[in-house]
Amino acid sequence: MTRLWQFRGGIKLDGNKSLSSEQPIAKANLPQFLILPLLQHIGVPAEPVVKVGDKVLKGQIIAHCQANDCYLKMSVPLHASSSGTVVAIEPHSVPHPSGLTALCIVIETDGRDEWIECSPIIDYTTLSPMTLRQQVAMAGIVGLGGAGFPSHLKLKSAGIDTLIINGAECEPYITCDDRLMREYPDDIVMGAQIFRHILGGTQHCVIAVEDNKPAAYSALLQAAQGRVTVVKVPTLYPTGGEKQLIHVLTGKEIGKAQLPADFGMVVHNIETTRAVYRAVKEGRPLISRVVTVTGNGIEQPQNLEVLLGTPIQVIIDQCGRKSDIKQLIMGGPMMGFTLPHDQLPVIKTTNCLIASSTQAIESPKPTMPCIRCGACAQVCPVNLLPQQLYWYTKAKDFKTAKNYHLFDCIECGCCAYVCPSYLPLVDYYRYAKAEIRANEQERQKANLARNRHEFRTFRLDRDKAEKLARHQAAAAASQPDKQVIIEAALERVKAKKVPNHSEEKPIQEESVH
Ligand code: SF4
Ligand code: SF4
Repeated sequence: MTRLWQFRGGIKLDGNKSLSSEQPIAKANLPQFLILPLLQHIGVPAEPVVKVGDKVLKGQIIAHCQANDCYLKMSVPLHASSSGTVVAIEPHSVPHPSGLTALCIVIETDGRDEWIECSPIIDYTTLSPMTLRQQVAMAGIVGLGGAGFPSHLKLKSAGIDTLIINGAECEPYITCDDRLMREYPDDIVMGAQIFRHILGGTQHCVIAVEDNKPAAYSALLQAAQGRVTVVKVPTLYPTGGEKQLIHVLTGKEIGKAQLPADFGMVVHNIETTRAVYRAVKEGRPLISRVVTVTGNGIEQPQNLEVLLGTPIQVIIDQCGRKSDIKQLIMGGPMMGFTLPHDQLPVIKTTNCLIASSTQAIESPKPTMPCIRCGACAQVCPVNLLPQQLYWYTKAKDFKTAKNYHLFDCIECGCCAYVCPSYLPLVDYYRYAKAEIRANEQERQKANLARNRHEFRTFRLDRDKAEKLARHQAAAAASQPDKQVIIEAALERVKAKKVPNHSEEKPIQEESVH
């Protein structure tokens, strides 16, 4: 698997990575309050198993699925990221493009940062894949590259022969995976080996690193010692996309309605791989992650290992706030989203925070009409027709936009980046997707209501019929049997007809003389 292919489209971007890539990962300060949203991933939120006033230890489960069966569902448990007291379970602003609030558990930390007793697994090869998969689920691990897909669900696919560890950190500014590969290559290689064991011993295991990260590549190559393959891939945005990376490494194009598992492949992110290593070898759940804090609004851009739930304001202050921050982005500049303020917690999918000072913000360029130049279609890595999607979305013709594979758009932003008319194309696609999903939900609700109504009518009719049948049966039961009545009548008739010879006197005919 050393031959490489090139996917269609994509763009070259300025990395801006040197801002934060040259300092070792430091620890973020312990905040006074930790705000832990119950839903930090794709799927079903966990439910609190603690109440206000409870004392908790670092690593203790504070929210879980119903019936403790997270590993069967699209969900994971949530753990306290430090020791302290639960002071609230209430809605709080969370980092999300919608800007909505969500239910959170708030812990006031006690400063001791005291762990629960952890149970490391000395030799994971003696355990079954099922046991290890449960261990991954119970550690609360989800995809840490930004998608937040529960990792245990990607570990049950049968017939997987290729495992890919994604070190193609292609978005500008983000360097957390680069630092992890440089500082913890052994953990990552061991994590990959654990994945292989859970997947039943995959034939191939590849760690892909972009060619603009030579130090990470060398560190991994040394740690791998021939057990896994480390491959350099060209730096082209969006190589870090799951399907794009598979194409680069294998030449296989995963179609619009297909999954990597359909081709015997599974892809995991670098930090997810390290989290799995820690969950198994150290018995520690996911209670922290590495966050790149960067941008020209920050004095000392760097990577910090941050406890989940730490308010963003705390880590921005730790890195030095240059001036009033005009714009705060979570994620990269291409696929990330703007946060309304910094009183929001770091969650499992927070890989980067870009703070821009007033001077750095370019005033948005005025948009112009689409000139149908086709530049957007040339760079789209998933072969879509961005201008057509734009026209249909603008006209609110969502049905046709859907038919033009709107939901295959990975929102990479390449089309908007090259558009000479400065059209905010991705914003249109996000809006269209949200509208379609909302309409879909409305339709499902209406269907549910109709089904309920139909079932209620059916149930009432059925009850009525059963009641009537019961009444008739009861009425019949309270009357003497017809046959008995008939027989009694016949008996009476018979009794009348039979002469009583003992009493009857012979009728003597009178003789006529
Ligand atoms: S790049 Fe912009 S102007 Fe050109 S076709 Fe696409 S949407 Fe229209
Ligand atoms: S944002 Fe969507 S439509 Fe635009 S280039 Fe990326 S995948 Fe294609």
